[in-house]
Order: sequence, then structure tokens, then C-alpha cells
Amino acid sequence: MGAWESAAAPSGPVGDPAPVPSADLHVHASMRAEEAGAVAEALRRLHHQGLQRLWVYAHVVALDAADYQDRLARLPVPALRHYNGPGVDDSVEAATRFLASVSDGPEIDVVPQVDDLHGAVRERLDDVLCAGVVAVKIVHDLDLVDQEQAVLESDHAGLLGRLADDGVPAIVHLDLRRSEAWVRRVLADLPRLRLTIAHLGYSRSRMGPMLDEFQNVVGDIANLALHIEAKPDSYRAFLDRYAGRIVFGSDAFLGNLSAVEGHGRAVAGLGLSDHARNALLHSDWYPEDGR
Ligand SMILES: [Zn+2]
Repeated sequence: MGAWESAAAPSGPVGDPAPVPSADLHVHASMRAEEAGAVAEALRRLHHQGLQRLWVYAHVVALDAADYQDRLARLPVPALRHYNGPGVDDSVEAATRFLASVSDGPEIDVVPQVDDLHGAVRERLDDVLCAGVVAVKIVHDLDLVDQEQAVLESDHAGLLGRLADDGVPAIVHLDLRRSEAWVRRVLADLPRLRLTIAHLGYSRSRMGPMLDEFQNVVGDIANLALHIEAKPDSYRAFLDRYAGRIVFGSDAFLGNLSAVEGHGRAVAGLGLSDHARNALLHSDWYPEDGR
């Protein structure tokens, strides 16, 4: 095989755009301090391939070591369990400090992430919100958080009310099979809330009607690449139907950004309508109100 053939072989059909999105609005801050150089390099490479904007979710208050370990063990993302022990700090401060040091990468916003709003988190969140944020990520998941359901529901509803008043979008990780009634009550009370339901709420059959009813709701495809590839026909129909109402998210983490391209590939390979494909991969980064 000549040099020309081997150089040409690994890429896709001629004319296919690289499956890197313009924006990835669901990335986690987890990384090890010693990976900083490699992460900065990966961000530069993705930027050169077309990635213009990232939202990086970071804890408002760093979890203590035991809590952090416990949380990692429960996560449905095995690769993230690597991010334990010394040298790991995915707090807002650590992420902001590191990302400010990255040159020639995409535009990056650090998005504060909260779950249980206990005292220290609530106080710190207040400072963070007052300083100005593009969005807030809320983990509304009883499997990951040791908190009573009623407390979590009322605390999170209160925070979403504040975000609606301030015009700050929220991304909520929840399972619609368990929390649909709660989120519907919140949306009925807060018509000005701009809400992203992460992972399509783990239920497209419940997500579709929510998108039909609430024009201020969007979904994201974070951590769904394998599902999309396993059920291309039903995902193609869903993503075509709700084009412009689904934003790109990968659930990648800074220490391993491969899911960005993985999700890009899953979307690009689906055979979506041009409108739906462009809305996911190449559109503005976040839908405007009422679009
Ligand atoms: Zn996530």
C-alpha cells in the first residue's frame, strides 16, 4: 500500500464533515492535576476540529474524599471512577483556574453543579450565582444523593424559581420515569424557566410530550451515543421530529474527552434530516426562548 492510500484510509467518505459539534453543553470537570497538559492539548485539537463552545459542570463545593469516592462508585459511567484519590478536584474553583490557563481552545463556561443543597453548598452557591453564571446544573437523582425526596424536591424547586427569575437556564439530571410529576409541577409554576432535561430524561416516550407542551424545555443527548447507535431508527425519528429542541451534550469529562467525538459520530451516522443534523451539530449553542 502506498503512502497516499494509507493516509486516505482512516478518514470517512470524502466531503463528510468531521463529527465534532460546534458546542458541547454537557461536559464534567473531572480530571487529574497531572493531566493538565494533555487536557489542554485535547481541547486545542477539538477546537481546531470545530468545537467552539463548552459548558463544563463543576461542583460548587468540592466533596470530601469519602463522599466523593462513594459518589463515583454509584455513577453509571465506569470510566469516571478512575477520578479518585489525590490530585482530583473538580470544584468550580479548580475548573475555573485550570480552564483560564488553556489557550487556543474553545470558549468555555464553568457551570456550577449542585445536588443536595446542604449549608455549605447553599452559601457558596449564592456567591457563585451573584458573580454571574451562564447556567446551573442540578442533579435531581435520589440514587446519587442521600437526601429525602420531599426535601430535594422542595429545595430544587426553590433554586429553579430563583434561576427562572434571574433568566439563568438550568440543566436538570432526572429520570422522568420517577420525577415527571415533580418537574411538570415546577414547569407549570415557572413559565419563565429555561430548562434542559439531561439524557432526554431517560425516557423518550415521556420526553416527547414534555417537549410538545413546554416550549421552554429542551433535552440533551449526553451519554446516549451507545443507545443511539443501538436503536438508530427510533432515535432518527425522535431527533428529526424534535430538531432544534435537543442540544448536543456528550457527558465527557475533561480527563477523557473522547465522548465528544463519540457522540458526534453517533449523530453524524444516523442519517438525520439536514435540519436536525445541523441543529444538533452545527447550530447556535442554545435555543432561544420559544423556538
Ligand atoms: Zn452528566
